Formats: sequence, C-alpha cells, structure tokens
Amino acid sequence: LLLLSCSIAAKAQTDNVKYKDPKQPLNARIRDLMKRMTLEEKIGQMTQLDRENVTAEIMKTYGIGSLLSGGGSVPREQATAEDWVNMVNYFQKGSLSTRLGIPMIYGIDAVHGHNNVYKATIFPHNVGLGATRQRIGAATAREVRATGIPYAFAPCIAVCRDPRWGRCYESYSEDHKIVQEMTELIPGLQGDIPANSRKGVPYIGGKDKVLACAKHFVGDGGTTKGINENNTVIDWHGLLSIHMPAYYHSIIKGVSTIMVSYSSWNGEKMHANRDLVTNFLKGTLRFRGFVISDWEGIDRINPPEKSNYTYSVQAGIEAGIDMVMVPYNYIEFIKDLTDLVNKKVIPMSRIDDAVRRILRVKFSMGLFENPLADLSLASELGSQAHRDLAREAVRKSLVLLKNGENADTPVLPLPKKAPKILVAGTHADNLGYQCGGWTISWQGLGGNNLTAGTTILTAIKGAVDPETEVVFSENPSAEFVKSNNFSYAIVVVGETPYAETNGDSLNLTIPEPGPSTITNVCGGAKCAVVVVSGRPVVIEPYVSSMDALVAAWLPGSEGQGVADVLFGDYGFSGKLARTWFKTVDQLPMNVGDSHYDPLFPFGFGLTTQPISA
Ligand code: BGC
Repeated sequence: LLLLSCSIAAKAQTDNVKYKDPKQPLNARIRDLMKRMTLEEKIGQMTQLDRENVTAEIMKTYGIGSLLSGGGSVPREQATAEDWVNMVNYFQKGSLSTRLGIPMIYGIDAVHGHNNVYKATIFPHNVGLGATRQRIGAATAREVRATGIPYAFAPCIAVCRDPRWGRCYESYSEDHKIVQEMTELIPGLQGDIPANSRKGVPYIGGKDKVLACAKHFVGDGGTTKGINENNTVIDWHGLLSIHMPAYYHSIIKGVSTIMVSYSSWNGEKMHANRDLVTNFLKGTLRFRGFVISDWEGIDRINPPEKSNYTYSVQAGIEAGIDMVMVPYNYIEFIKDLTDLVNKKVIPMSRIDDAVRRILRVKFSMGLFENPLADLSLASELGSQAHRDLAREAVRKSLVLLKNGENADTPVLPLPKKAPKILVAGTHADNLGYQCGGWTISWQGLGGNNLTAGTTILTAIKGAVDPETEVVFSENPSAEFVKSNNFSYAIVVVGETPYAETNGDSLNLTIPEPGPSTITNVCGGAKCAVVVVSGRPVVIEPYVSSMDALVAAWLPGSEGQGVADVLFGDYGFSGKLARTWFKTVDQLPMNVGDSHYDPLFPFGFGLTTQPISA
C-alpha cells in the first residue's frame, strides 16, 4: 500500500511538470523545461559526442544532448538490429537518469541506405540516384529506426561542380535543379509535412521516420579544383543560384537539421560565418530546426595546436551553430563555452536559441514520450521489399553511353543464351567495390564479406540461360581472350572505394589493371564495358575499342539491377546528371559553361527496350 501511494504521488508530481506532459502545447513544454535548466545542462544539450569515447555515466555526468556513430567510429562488424538497439538504449538510460531526464538523440551517416549496418540494404550512392530521380527515403528511415536510431545525417545536397572532389558521389548532380528535386528524400525520411504547418518548422512524423540533415551548408561542392573542405570562390549571386536552392527546398519540406560545411566561402570558414548561418539561414530562410557543426568542425575554424581554442568555440557558437559534433576535447569545449557565457562574451540568448531549437526537435519527434527503442521494426533491416526497391534504383540509375557504332547496330541487350561468355574485371565480383565509400566502414572496403548482397558476376550468372557457360577472369591476357571463342564479354572495372579527402583526385583515371583489362578484352571479343565509379572518369581513350559502355556509378548491394538491364529484362533509361569530360584539363566544366565540350553531355543517355519474355 505504501509503495502504491508513493507511486501515485510520484505520478501526480510528473503530471504537474509541464514539459513532461504531451498534451501541453510545444512552446509551453520548451519554455517550462528551459526555465528549469542550468547553464551546464544547456551546454550539455549542445554537445554531440562520438559513442566510441563515452559511457552511460559520461552521458549522465555532462547531460550530453546527442551521440553519433560517425565515419571515424570503429565499425560494429556484424552487429544485429538487436545489438544496435541495446547499445542505443544503454546510452539513453544514462541520459534519462539525469536530473531533468532529457533524452539524447542518436545520429548516424545513413547516406545510401543504413550503410554502417551489417546486412542493411545498400542503395546506390547519390550520384546514381541523380540519374534516376528515384527516392528511397522511407525505406532508409525504416532500416535506421530498426536499429533504434532516430537521426540520419542525410541527404547530402551538395551541388558537385568538379568531379575531382572526393565527395562527388555524395552529390546528386552538378545541376541545382536536380539536387533540389531530390530533396523529396526529406519527406521520405521524416514523413510528409502536414498542409497547415508553418514554413521552416521541423517535422517528424512517426516511429518509422527519422530526422533528416541537409548537408553541408553551403557551397561544399564548389571548392577550387574540388579540393575537399577547401575554399569556394563564387559571388553572392552564384552562391544563391547554384548552392542555395536545395536548402530553401529542404526547409520548405520541413528538414529538422542542417549541417555546416568544413569549406570556406571566399576565404571565410562556414563554421564561423554568422551572416550565412544566423542571418541568412535562420533569418531570411526562417529555418527553425537546429544547425549542427560537422565532426570537429569548430576545432578546424582554428586548429587548437596552432591557435586559441576558445576563439574557435566563440566563433562557431556566435556564427549560429546549435549542436557541436565531436568537439575534439569535450571537457575543454564545455568549460570554454561556460566561461564565455559567464563572462558575457557570448550572450545567454544565443545559448537559449540553440537549446530551444534542439528541444523543439526532440519534443516534436516524440522523443520524451518514447525515448527507448524497441525491436518492432527489426525485420525491416535488409528486407526483401527494400532490396527490390534498391534493385529497381540500380537499373534506373545505369546510364547507357554507347551501344554499338550507331543506332542500327545495337549490342545491348545481350542474349541470355550463348555458348560461352566472359565476365572480366576487378569490379565484377567485388561487393565492396560496387558499394563504394561509407559502407560498413568510412572509407569502404573491398571484397565480398563486408555485408549481404549480390555481386554483378553473381547477378549475371543468375540471369543467363543455364546452358550458357560463364567464364570469369579478373584480368585476362589478350591471348586468353583471343584463344577462347567467347560469344561476347562483359568487362566491369572502375574506382576503388574512398571517402572525403582520400577521394580527391587530380587525374581521375581508372586504376590499373582496369584500362589493360578493357584493352585486352575489347581487342579480342565483342565487349560491353560497365564502369563502377563515383563520378565520370577518364574513359575517352578506350571508348572506340568498346562495343557498349555503361556508367553504373556505385550501385550498392543489389547487383541484379545491372543484369536486369544488360540482358533486357528492363530497358536502359538513366540520364547523365553530370557532364562526362574528355580530359581533366577541361575541368571544371558544367552544363552552360562557355567552354563546354564534353565526351557525353549532361542529360545524355541511350535507351533500350525490354525484351518481352
Ligand atoms: C562528414 C559528414 C558526416 C560526419 C559524421 C564528417 O567527416 O563531413 O558528412 O556526417 O563526418 O560522420
């Protein structure tokens, strides 16, 4: 009886606490909670840490507002949905045991499906999706939620203006109109925004949806020579008309968070750019969600080893960053920011703006009511329905660049029935290569053991007639090709995985043995070449030797999508969302440029008709 009356008393107390009452209006809950918070608790909410370096106890001690599994985190190889849910809940319990019980929010780079997670569906990278206009947000949201995570750092709405950039494959297109169209991914991730909602107010609609994050604000895809994290030199009109429209569209679609770019605009670091982050994004564009820094983004305003860390903290927070992703030393960050506020260098109103935005998102998504994840969506991870969707996205993303010498002599689709065919190339039987960077690990991995999926070779073997002999060789010699009487050959070559700065390339060549495989095979058999790459690469010298050429981008885990179109179960329909250059000295070269002289122009793509069964 005593216990019962105690719990009734405790409940009555909870009911009196406005912020805990879901029936109270959103703003009343935010106001009530903020009134109760100390400066330390507010700064804790503004801090996002890498889960590799924390414990539930640290979450509790500092009242940390958010955690992430970032690219730099050690992969949790072969972890199941249940392992992930338990891990997220373990940290969440630390947050719930704080004085005010404010739940933390866990984020992850789900940038082509739930790519950090073993056996998730890996969708084509954005460069391929730009060629299809296919949107896969809802499926990604369900897979991310299946692992107990409510926040995806996607979509990347960079407008990549130079393929030498190592993140070009994270960009849908060189054309801002395609990128802005692709912001339709946001309602897919977060849910459809109700018709009467106010512009700029974040919206997250249900337990199978996740917060989205438009990144990286702004101009990340416009840096000189495509050098990652570098300087984008462009006038205000250019910034507004090329790099900004997708942000405007994201905000209209209710995007909850926006990540700031490491890059600079005309020499000024975006992480310190108050005019653009506060005045333009939060002011003119009326963005009401929260602004998150990039990983150690604040530190890079002024690297601590070179200069004064306190200055970087001040510059970043004053610029308008609300949540700081992985300050390199969070104890120092929290101390510095606390001092800056106590000394009235940073006004309390700036901290309150940040915390109000973070809490608005947390309340709106129902995190206070449902802080702990469950396994109700576990079967969504890598489900057949999502794999079918990814396979469809693959076949629609493939761009047919050459098909015979002219329209009267098409080579594709290939016959399924043939005495003996050759499949060649380093990328034919390599799941890791076809998934690219940001797959299980940050930089991506080679080989077939990283996760579940179907390689292009396996897909081809599954597609051809049982009587067709399929010979596979990674790098056959010219003699081998000539001495066998192959009916035809499929050559699959391309780039090996990379992410961010590691992918910056000034020469954009296909690494050996790719080019020699093309030469050896196409010199001795009728050949269809499939290029697996995150961007256009140097291909011009070899095109004349090929009978057909297909850009497959980074198709992900469902290699059957490639076989579907090669053998005519479906037609080719993809169109280039990027200009394909002839030589690297033409770069940068985008549609509309006066020196435009491409190998294949923006929008190009041959079509084929499906063969009826
Ligand atoms: C990348 C972001 C990413 C973050 C977290 C950074 O290095 O620039 O795109 O979301 O890491 O992994």
